[in-house]
Amino acid sequence: MSDIFLVLAGLMLGLSFLGGPYLWFIPFGIIALVFGWLNRPKKILPSLTRPITDKLDRLVRIESKGTEFISLEELIEEKSSQTVLQLSKSWQEVENDVEQFIYETLVFFKSMMPNVYTAAVFFPSKAPGYFELKAFCSESSDVLEKATLSPSHGLVGQLIKKRVSRILEGDISGGKTLYYYQNNPPVHSIAAVPIIQNQQTRGAVVIDSLQHNAFDGETITLLKSVAKIVGTTAYMSYMKVKNHIEKDQYEVLYQYQQNFFHSMSVNDIYVHIAEYIKSAIPFDRLLILALDRPKGDSGRVVYANGIDEEYFENQTFTLSDEGLLILSMIRNTPMERSIEEPTIRIKRSEKQTDLIRHILVLPIITNSDENKAEMVISLERRAPARYSSHEMGLLKPIAGAAGFAFMRTRAFEEKEEQASRDGLTGLINHRTFHQKFRVEKLRANRQGTNIGLLMTDIDKFKNINDTYGHPAGDIVIRTIASILCKEVRNDIDVVARYGGEEFVIMLVDASSQSLRDTAERIRHSVEQKLFEIERIEPIRLTISIGVFLITPEHDDIRKALEFADKALYKAKNTGRNKVVEYS
Ligand code: GH3
Ligand code: MG
Ligand code: MG
Repeated sequence: MSDIFLVLAGLMLGLSFLGGPYLWFIPFGIIALVFGWLNRPKKILPSLTRPITDKLDRLVRIESKGTEFISLEELIEEKSSQTVLQLSKSWQEVENDVEQFIYETLVFFKSMMPNVYTAAVFFPSKAPGYFELKAFCSESSDVLEKATLSPSHGLVGQLIKKRVSRILEGDISGGKTLYYYQNNPPVHSIAAVPIIQNQQTRGAVVIDSLQHNAFDGETITLLKSVAKIVGTTAYMSYMKVKNHIEKDQYEVLYQYQQNFFHSMSVNDIYVHIAEYIKSAIPFDRLLILALDRPKGDSGRVVYANGIDEEYFENQTFTLSDEGLLILSMIRNTPMERSIEEPTIRIKRSEKQTDLIRHILVLPIITNSDENKAEMVISLERRAPARYSSHEMGLLKPIAGAAGFAFMRTRAFEEKEEQASRDGLTGLINHRTFHQKFRVEKLRANRQGTNIGLLMTDIDKFKNINDTYGHPAGDIVIRTIASILCKEVRNDIDVVARYGGEEFVIMLVDASSQSLRDTAERIRHSVEQKLFEIERIEPIRLTISIGVFLITPEHDDIRKALEFADKALYKAKNTGRNKVVEYS
């Protein structure tokens, strides 16, 4: 296909050498050349991984805003943060290709018109409103590479400033400077047209000549073809890269959506969200906030990455805090804002930075009955620009998938939690105790420490039930449970409801002395306690405790429990309200 166009181009351009009306073959020849080039055998585009922030110094780029052709200055404006831009190597390759193509077009064009001294193409530069010399073909060695032209820079500047559709001058000897030569050569004629894409000036094609009145209306027509070709080529090439990148991004998105389906814990969800966002969307700070419990009113920062991440990680909040993220959570509404002054993210006292210029807060819909969200994602960046529709398009589906997964895993975790606990006392049950016991025993063996085991049973508990009724007995069981928890180390030792009115306690890193002391303290506390039960006089009761110290030599945890139970039995048989150690 490509070859046919190239042959056609050769034919037409050859004919154009006959001059006169054949000159009209030139634009068609060039168009055929372009089609030939665009249809050239395609290289496989390499995958996008390499961040090339430093390669932003490029002529033009298609931004992801629909099909808009975005200039460099807009691009820089939006992306100049330290954020990693996930642009591909293919990007650079295509750019090099385009530059080469433009250069060849200019060489070809100049060969058609021998009176041209310099032919040049300008594209937008880093400085907003400026043009930069991108490619040229010249008789002169004095052309300034990377010359920039401002709107006030003489003749060519008018193309930027006044948006004129052409410049044609036959005698510019009157002190007018072109600003793209080092030393001003005796240029007399100039012709220029803008490169227009989507009704916007995106560059310029400029030719000059040492001769007077070297160009005419026909030259302008020709130049316009060149401008069209150069603009279209750049546009099409960048579209191609853009599509490639977007396709890759959607594949990543799909992959992450799959990940969510396999998540079994809410922590996995946070990590997946963070990893996905890191791979797809530029930010300078990412925060994920989640409520501790469904319908709860407090929570914490479950994930923080970027500026001040150590500070934000695990920061707690309540729904009465005033930050933007909290507001978004309560209202269940996304919020996007440019930041001109200190903005509260979570609470008034938080650490501020003046680096951030833009923030996007996205609540995650978790389909709970309530209207408020249970999780929010916040993306902040240094560049003062909104997140593009493409970026939003990548964020929203992930928010949807994450919300669904969050709901599912949280329900799962709650069921697990319920199944592991006893409904009356809230203590872990027999089964969970055994699991924890095994884990703790392995750790104790590694560290060479002992575990203290206590088995307790309420004395003459049947009497309580018989005298005051079963509900009163329940209150007693709950009260005993809370006494036991108070007397051991929170989050270190483990208390479980082992059976009806029996409890078991595991003391981590215990000694024979500390085991006996703790048991005695518990026994004493219960003995001292006045059990307040509605409509009856406060009552007193006692418990018996059997204890056993498990040293690293004891490897059979079933046996250990049996020993503690035997000691308890002995306590019962020798008068109750006492602590007996197994021997
Ligand atoms: P001992 O001093 O020998 O332990 O005498 P006891 O009366 O306490 O005897 P035992 O330990 O065998 O009694 C267990 C009683 O605990 C029997 C049962 O009715 C009661 N019980 C078990 N679970 C519950 C419960 O969840 N609520 C109430 N109210 N009572 C319970
Ligand atoms: Mg019992
Ligand atoms: Mg009992």
